[in-house]
Amino acid sequence: QIQRALRSLSIPLERLHIMKGHMMQDMCKGLSLQTHAQAKVRMLPTYICSTPNGTEKGNFMVAELCQNQVRTVLVTLYGDGNMSPQMMYKIFDMPEGIMQGTGEALFDFIAQCVSQFLAETFNSDTSKSEERLPLGFVFPFSCRQTQLDKAELLSWSKGFSCSDVVGQDVVQLLQSAINKQELCHVDVVALMNDTVGTMMTCSTEGRPCEVAMVADKGSNCCFMAEAYLVETADETSGRMCVNTEWGCFGDDGTLNDIFTPYDECVDVDSSNPGEKRFEKMVGTLYLGEIVRHALIALTAEKAIFTGTDIAVLKEKGVFTMQHVLEIVRNEDGTTDVKKILEVLGLQPSERDCGRVQQICRAVVGRAVTLHAAGLAAILSYMCQTRDMETLMVNVGMEGELYKGYPRFEEILMSVSRLLSPECMATLLPSRDGSGRGAAMVTAVALRLAAQRREVNEVLAPLQLSRADLEKVQALMREEMDRGLCKETNATASVRMLPTYVSHTPDGSERGDFLALDLGGTNFRVLVVHVTQEGISMASEIYIIPAAIMQGTGEALFDHIIDCIIDFQTKQNLMTHMLPLGFTFSFPCQQVGLDKALLLTWTKGFSASGCVGQDVVQLLREAARRKKHLGMQVVALVNDTVGTMMACGYDDPKCEIGLIVGTGTNACYMEEMRNVGTVEGDQGRMCINMEWGAFGDNGCLDHLFTHFDKVVDESTINPGKQRFEKLISGMYLGEIVRQILMVMTEKELLFQGKISPKLQTRNIFQTKFLSTIERNGLALRQIKAILHELELDACFEDCVLLREVCQTVSLRAAQLCAAGLAAVVEKMRENRGLDQLSVTVGVDGTLYKLHPCFSKNLQKTLKDLAPNCNVSFLLSEDGSGKGAALVAAVASRAAN
Ligand code: ADP
Ligand code: MG
Repeated sequence: QIQRALRSLSIPLERLHIMKGHMMQDMCKGLSLQTHAQAKVRMLPTYICSTPNGTEKGNFMVAELCQNQVRTVLVTLYGDGNMSPQMMYKIFDMPEGIMQGTGEALFDFIAQCVSQFLAETFNSDTSKSEERLPLGFVFPFSCRQTQLDKAELLSWSKGFSCSDVVGQDVVQLLQSAINKQELCHVDVVALMNDTVGTMMTCSTEGRPCEVAMVADKGSNCCFMAEAYLVETADETSGRMCVNTEWGCFGDDGTLNDIFTPYDECVDVDSSNPGEKRFEKMVGTLYLGEIVRHALIALTAEKAIFTGTDIAVLKEKGVFTMQHVLEIVRNEDGTTDVKKILEVLGLQPSERDCGRVQQICRAVVGRAVTLHAAGLAAILSYMCQTRDMETLMVNVGMEGELYKGYPRFEEILMSVSRLLSPECMATLLPSRDGSGRGAAMVTAVALRLAAQRREVNEVLAPLQLSRADLEKVQALMREEMDRGLCKETNATASVRMLPTYVSHTPDGSERGDFLALDLGGTNFRVLVVHVTQEGISMASEIYIIPAAIMQGTGEALFDHIIDCIIDFQTKQNLMTHMLPLGFTFSFPCQQVGLDKALLLTWTKGFSASGCVGQDVVQLLREAARRKKHLGMQVVALVNDTVGTMMACGYDDPKCEIGLIVGTGTNACYMEEMRNVGTVEGDQGRMCINMEWGAFGDNGCLDHLFTHFDKVVDESTINPGKQRFEKLISGMYLGEIVRQILMVMTEKELLFQGKISPKLQTRNIFQTKFLSTIERNGLALRQIKAILHELELDACFEDCVLLREVCQTVSLRAAQLCAAGLAAVVEKMRENRGLDQLSVTVGVDGTLYKLHPCFSKNLQKTLKDLAPNCNVSFLLSEDGSGKGAALVAAVASRAAN
């Protein structure tokens, strides 16, 4: 019978694995917005988003509401890693009746305790009372917290039942009571429970504690969860401490099969039968009761205490946790056990003593094992949600069972290791969790608030309001009009260059075309077959040696013709005379579809005798010199136009081209009657806006931040391409780097230490923004990037870095959207439409690979141009396909 009793109290490992799984499921349920109302493990957000880092400094007051008492604590932190805070405290007994009286009386009493304590502590030093004194309030009842300093009481427990408090914000009630005491310098800044306090008090510099477990009268656990998973709180970046409230685990029946008849008796006897099933198996309030019921049952079965009177055991509560702990601690022999039982009024035999001890050990051992299963669930959950292969974590510990049972740590560690072998926990004993911890919470809250203010100050100039964006849109529109008008064109910052492309593809284009792509990353020659079935291409990359790039124009164009001949030979195309489209990505003044004067070389080219010349003519002359008759140059194309044309082949509504890569630019179909710089009023023409230069006349100066100015000054073209410098891939990384340097100087990042690498120009690449912003969990990659830059980053650094990147890329996308809004609105007006439906063909690696750029761009555009229905189509090889299509459309129009 004894063996059967002991077996029912021991839980096999497989069963613990199942329990761990249930706990993890329940945790997810508690965190999800949809299911948290029904969840048994409540997973309450605490609004504590950071653990102490040791720099916390100052005086912090704590008021703790306990059973029958109020405790006041003053903690002084020295910013020295929290190694030796100074603490003073005082305990006040609660007068009779307060716990069941009015809420007002309760809070007045707490405020009086605070007042009296402060008067005694500071009486000789009045100057201190001039300073603000932050106060943390430890309020161990079930609350719906919506901010660190806002919490509605859901229900009283533990014998409290004060009127007019349920449903009220208890922080507000305490603050009002404190104000009544004329303690206006005391601010209630944080409310928390004791578990959270334990976690906070165990954190020291360089050793954050991210889990806490309280194994006391009740049982509870809290941990730092990824904030975006805490759907019941708005916070989405970083982490937030979640109070699991796991005492109610099993209230839906998942623990029924391990409940023993003794547990059932304890539950039935309790004030809340059916509730807090887990807590009733592990809380020290219940362990003595479980033993008592086991002894009653075994006596009835005549397994112990045969022939003696056990009436004393019938009384609830006679067998206390203290008794249980003393019995289990009695390692050698049973002398003490006998004494304890005799004092209780029992007459145990030697054998009874041994059996009682076995029962006590089983009950306590089971409690620890269940704690271990719960802890294992939390550790595995953390490991999974942090996307880590292994997790090392510190666990703050508190409570009567933890402190009173010598084998607690050993059992907890070995069982949780078996259940979560991927996790390694280190237990840290808490020193006065609720008092010191509450001061820590308060201190961290103030540190974060101060830091937040400074971060906001740094980032504010980069954050654009709706009005800012509307203004950019209006300015862009103005500049467009000026660029189109013959008289003002010369002074407009947006040059609005005519391209002589007057039709987008209509799908009827047919034939084989050659295309050249010069001025991108590679020089390429392509053949493009446009057939009924679609477009197919073949291409080859050719090298242009530096000597030729910087030699004579003749040699350059001769080389290009050589490459074309080589390509046509290889492709068996020498017998044909093919039309050729030339994507030439250098600034040109176009005067016809096949006539474009080079304004200046860029990107390392400097071939002589070309600037001011017609590029098409130079190519034709070279063909003549080489006696190459297999091609006919019909069009010169800007890459923006190529992009529009390439997308236009798949979508006839595509009448805008956009590039967001190294630089940024756009083109669109404008009415000829509006193009003052070209003769004729009929039809439309594609306008190459060259919008990267928008703002070069100073009209965007108000948007330029300190960071943008520094970046601009270090470029080869200061003051030029102002719009582009706020948007494109060549600059975003560098803007982020400038912000990081300023934030580090202000000690908001990297503990104020700037690495020499971070001071290197252009070391922070724009592609880093994509990695950093990609998902909520790219922490490992963020750390890797920072490691590459020789920066030692903590979790909070990573979170702040992401915020900086998001701010910079969001601004870029919004500005781009404001520019596009001006374009689509102009097209809508041009056509006299209430609603315009149009497609933008887009190219550029920033647009294509950044995780949020396109989404932000589209959202802002919808907002700024609500009457335009704009879709976006990614271009595939716009320069090749687009140039061929320009040639094709030109031949179609000519026929
Ligand atoms: P180009 O504009 O010269 O034709 P791309 O469209 O490929 O070339 O753009 C290149 C630019 O894209 C680079 O300057 C770089 O800043 C940026 N870039 C490269 N990779 C990424 C990435 N993963 N995310 C965001 N931007 C990137
Ligand atoms: Mg490109």
